[in-house]
Amino acid sequence: LAKTAGRNHYQFYVAQVDEEIRERKRLEKDLMRALPDNQLHLVYQPQINLGSRRIVGAEALLRWTHPTLGMVPPDRFIPLAELNGSIVEIGRWVLEEACRQAAEWAAAEMPLHIAINLSAVQLRQGDIVETILNVLKAYDIPPGRLELEVTETSFMENLDSAVEKLNQLKREGVNVAVDDFGTGYSSLTYLKRLPVQHLKIDKQFVQDLLINDDDTRIANTIIDLGRSLNLDVIAEGVETEEQEFYLHSRGCQMAQGYYFAKPLPADDFVRFYASFHHKAVASASVNPTND
Ligand code: C2E
Ligand code: MG
Ligand code: MG
Ligand code: MG
Repeated sequence: LAKTAGRNHYQFYVAQVDEEIRERKRLEKDLMRALPDNQLHLVYQPQINLGSRRIVGAEALLRWTHPTLGMVPPDRFIPLAELNGSIVEIGRWVLEEACRQAAEWAAAEMPLHIAINLSAVQLRQGDIVETILNVLKAYDIPPGRLELEVTETSFMENLDSAVEKLNQLKREGVNVAVDDFGTGYSSLTYLKRLPVQHLKIDKQFVQDLLINDDDTRIANTIIDLGRSLNLDVIAEGVETEEQEFYLHSRGCQMAQGYYFAKPLPADDFVRFYASFHHKAVASASVNPTND
């Protein structure tokens, strides 16, 4: 009996893996149509300066609406796009679209920083620096307004070349943040050599802040590290008032998370920006009775 059960489990497992491989292949293939068929769009999550409590930037996050499967999360399709190389073209589109949006906002008196996630595969491209600078020029975005989010793993394969590229970008004024800090192969040696300006505390350490002692200590350590290396620290995944209060009092300069806002379509972002800063919105001036 045990044997039969074991074999059934095994067959079930094989069928599952099989299904998983088929689905990956399908997504990988469908991904090639995503850009030409306009299935991609960006949403923007506000980044808040905890001192001034103002929205100082927006992180652009990619969304894919698959024609039959609906929304496919980026954690699912970005790794596939990196495998088949389509991330290079997709990433370039993200850069252009985010810069176009930033230019539109700047023209509407919302001169925000714009953060984009740069894949390790993109950073490896020989012409990535040129591409980035050309897009900035085309949309008339001051380089200091762009922030590239890169993960620690991006530097591992070819540290020298990554450092060289980031140095070139830094000389032009582009900012770099280490995303998901603490989850990869963090090395203080890398960090010392990398021309970066920001550390992002991964949301996994923020989620259980003040509940889990280890996570609290890790967040504290990242904030202290930022202070001693003179890097601004930004916390992601802030979901409660307590988390904001703690991070701010502990010396973390910036935050983003559902507590403030989820990643928003561009139109909603503008509305959120106005209400967050208590600016009069059109409807309020029509009906100015409530105060
Ligand atoms: P990330 O860059 O670390 O982005 C943070 C993720 O946390 C986003 O997930 C965001 O929606 C989510 N998040 C923000 N605040 C909260 C919160 O308070 N609670 C919780 N539970 N989650 C929160 P998303 O949009 O699904 O993106 C996942 C990852 O996909 C990103 O992680 C990034 O690594 C990658 N990604 C997204 N867009 C792009 C892109 O344009 N290019 C590249 N290369 N990667 C991208
Ligand atoms: Mg990011
Ligand atoms: Mg992150
Ligand atoms: Mg992350």
